[in-house]
Amino acid sequence: MSLSTKFKLLPEVARFLGGSPFAGFIGGKDFPSSGGALIPTIDPGSGEKIGDIHDMTAADVAKAVDVANQAFPKWAALPQQERGAILLKLVDAVEKHKAIIGQIEALEAGKIEVQAQGDVQNFVDTMRYFVKQAEAVHTRTKLNVPGHEAWVHRAPWGACGFIFPWNFPFLLIGWGISPALAAGNTVIIKPAEDTSLSAIYLARLAKEAGLPDGVINVVTGRGQTAGAALSASPKIKRMSFTGSPEVGQLVAEACGRNLVPVKLELGGKGAAVVFDDVDVNAVADKLVGAITFHTGQVCCDATRWFVHSKIYDQFIARCKEKLDQVKIGHPLDPTTQMGPVVNHRQRARVLGYQEKGQATGAKCIYGGGPATVPGCDGNYVKPALLTGPLDNVAAREEIFGPVAYVAKFDTEEQAIAMANDTDYGLANSVWTGDSARAARVAEAMVAGNSWINAHNVFPHGVPYGGVKKSGLGGGVLSPEVLMDYYRSTSVVRPV
Ligand code: NAD
Repeated sequence: MSLSTKFKLLPEVARFLGGSPFAGFIGGKDFPSSGGALIPTIDPGSGEKIGDIHDMTAADVAKAVDVANQAFPKWAALPQQERGAILLKLVDAVEKHKAIIGQIEALEAGKIEVQAQGDVQNFVDTMRYFVKQAEAVHTRTKLNVPGHEAWVHRAPWGACGFIFPWNFPFLLIGWGISPALAAGNTVIIKPAEDTSLSAIYLARLAKEAGLPDGVINVVTGRGQTAGAALSASPKIKRMSFTGSPEVGQLVAEACGRNLVPVKLELGGKGAAVVFDDVDVNAVADKLVGAITFHTGQVCCDATRWFVHSKIYDQFIARCKEKLDQVKIGHPLDPTTQMGPVVNHRQRARVLGYQEKGQATGAKCIYGGGPATVPGCDGNYVKPALLTGPLDNVAAREEIFGPVAYVAKFDTEEQAIAMANDTDYGLANSVWTGDSARAARVAEAMVAGNSWINAHNVFPHGVPYGGVKKSGLGGGVLSPEVLMDYYRSTSVVRPV
């Protein structure tokens, strides 16, 4: 049975997919690849092809950068209110098309449909937040320096490059481009190979909403070609990369050669430290929710669970009970609680880590292995709990699937040391009823983010970024990030 007969596609989505193959979008119009090659987009829930994208060449990417630079002076010169008003029209259009974009994203990323709609709403909220923040930015800040008249002048940079991963395609575009556009920059978006359709939909919507041509451009294609060409372009003024640390290093090297400022938002191996004074069942439920949310393909997920020895057995028993209830299914099935992973490669990665981990001393205490969903030939895996030595590969490396590595601790110091014994530094959480201890542990864990009695919390206005192998150059979602998208000139006159 084909996808469209098994699940009801919105007529607008069916129409959109009917327009395949999808070209990139440059200067306000479709831009087919000059090389002519295509890359299939597969629904990870059914294994069916839903379209093809154009595999753009380095020359196509160079064209996009030129067009973005040409569009820059007019966009940058708009009064802030006027630029904000245009962006808010785009925001309204995105909100109006939430169900359509959500379904496109459910189909290409394997994301449960209501969660995909939540991601679209998050895009909307993010862009509204940065439009408002930008209105309050002073582009001329007076400095009180004896004997001098001095001020700092701020102006946008120009064409900014963005490379995104496949796990939160639309939400991350919002986190990335909103501050850049609000400050008056133009953008070139390179979405992941597997999940480019929502970016193309956005670019078309931006045109309809009245964004000037060339302000938002999308280059589709492979990372090694289109992504590498964008990050190596000497004509981009800034680069933002979200993805794996391995590719982040390549992007940073390429930008470094041109001295282009680069910002990296990378992977993680987050810890959840659970003390013995919590409501054990409630915390177990929340951590099961965290590891199964988007099938564990979440950079800041809690993938190492350190649990006080006094409550360990009860905690694990409750987790198993809760995991038994998780319904695995197609993202468009409204009863699904956990969908597929994004592609065959990712499925092999998740299962491979379980095998490698167990072959080198870890023990699987729950689940693991492939899962099947009747009638859907998708990339399904079962959630898993592993335990064992903390130097095990499954405890140290990012698996990016519904797998947690669990261990006991007895003292606060021991828990902190365990949480910090990692190459990553993105996000951890501490769970306790003792607020002084919560604050102590939250501050002692070395990462960009520490959450208390919660995991995965992203309010606008709180910086979200990583340290160590998890990031470089700033983070997202905060007023400081907006300031990254202005270059500053110090103006001084001796008096
Ligand atoms: P990836 O690094 O393989 O790919 C990310 C993007 O880089 C894709 O668009 C890809 O086409 C492109 N790319 C690949 N090779 C390239 C090259 N040589 N030059 C330039 N671009 C290239 O990552 P992924 O598998 O798509 O995403 C998963 C990773 O992203 C995980 O590590 C996850 O933790 C991380 N991530 C981090 C955050 C964060 O905010 N810190 C958010 C989401 C995902």
